[in-house]
Amino acid sequence: MKALQYREIGAEPEVVEVETPEPGPGQVRLKVTAAGACHSDSFIMGLPADQYGWGLPLTLGHEGVGVVDKLGDGVTGLALGESVAVYGPQGCGRCYQCAQGKENYCPRAAELGIAPPGLGAPGSMAEYMLVPDARHLLPIGDLDPVANVALTDAGLTPYHAIKMSLPKLVPGSTAVVIGAGGLGHVAIQMLRALTPAMVIALDVSVEKLKLATEVGAHHVFPSDGESAERVRELTHGRGATAVFDFVAIQPTLDASHDMVAVEGDVVLVGVGAGTLPSGLLAAPYDSVVRAPYWGSRSELFEVFDLSRAGLVHVETEVFSLDDAPEAYRRLHEGTLRGRAIVVP
Ligand code: NAD
Ligand code: ZN
Ligand code: ZN
Repeated sequence: MKALQYREIGAEPEVVEVETPEPGPGQVRLKVTAAGACHSDSFIMGLPADQYGWGLPLTLGHEGVGVVDKLGDGVTGLALGESVAVYGPQGCGRCYQCAQGKENYCPRAAELGIAPPGLGAPGSMAEYMLVPDARHLLPIGDLDPVANVALTDAGLTPYHAIKMSLPKLVPGSTAVVIGAGGLGHVAIQMLRALTPAMVIALDVSVEKLKLATEVGAHHVFPSDGESAERVRELTHGRGATAVFDFVAIQPTLDASHDMVAVEGDVVLVGVGAGTLPSGLLAAPYDSVVRAPYWGSRSELFEVFDLSRAGLVHVETEVFSLDDAPEAYRRLHEGTLRGRAIVVP
């Protein structure tokens, strides 16, 4: 089968021919119907050898939807041909976090060698993929795979990030989204669907600001040294009740810190390696900084239900598997509208 692999540090990923995997006991083979390209893939492919820890060659793709194609011994409860989405941040399935469906926070996954597809294990940018356990598969029924595959990360991650701040996002509150890309443009829609907050989007690209407006942002501004001041002005000095930073480099963290309100949340989702001061005199009283990772299994059901209800959609640009390297080029350049989806 064909697969898109990252094979050499610093090189572009390549489409190569690899053996079609056979499901072992307990495993499920999917025929992939859609896979999404995330900035995190670009991020890890940009790391030098001494910081890269996901194995080579790596079949990319941690957003995946497919149809059940072959069942390993002992797998029950799944029908061949069923359309399913893959829950990526897989855990041990036995610990306290996993018992709550929060496999994204499984403290044992690393020590047990469990890695998400496309981030250690072979991913979804291939004609077929193996999933180690049927519990990682959510039935998606007749939802369109291409339109919905990115919800497994670009939907689930902002949903989880926003959900924790919902009690604060009351009438009169303000939510700021920094970075209206793959995750950010979904975050804006979720904030509109789930809260009465005023939503402000910041980005460095005019095109992305246009997209932010189209998907529901009340106000958009360029992300620059004036961002915090503009947010303070719009909120009559109060600042942002919650800032969702999908970039999290030092300049956006500084802006987040300067715009957050008393008792507000700064939620760092981007992998940028900035840092923030904390302490009684260093930040607004009782403001909170969180850095959530991906989301829980039950939250993924909720995200698909938001799509079914027509409250959230993903803007997509579609590429064939042969053209997948181009999808990553466009992601790297920052010229995609929404998410790049690869259809094997
Ligand atoms: P993306 O490339 O689709 O979007 C990033 C957006 O940020 C683009 O619109 C870009 O124009 C904008 N941007 C760049 N610099 C900016 C700046 N200085 N100010 C404001 N906007 C700026 O990326 P994505 O796939 O949506 O991922 C977003 C981030 O989230 C990445 O860092 C990714 O690695 C991370 N991520 C984290 C998790 C998690 O679990 N925490 C999960 C998925 C992705
Ligand atoms: Zn991702
Ligand atoms: Zn666990």
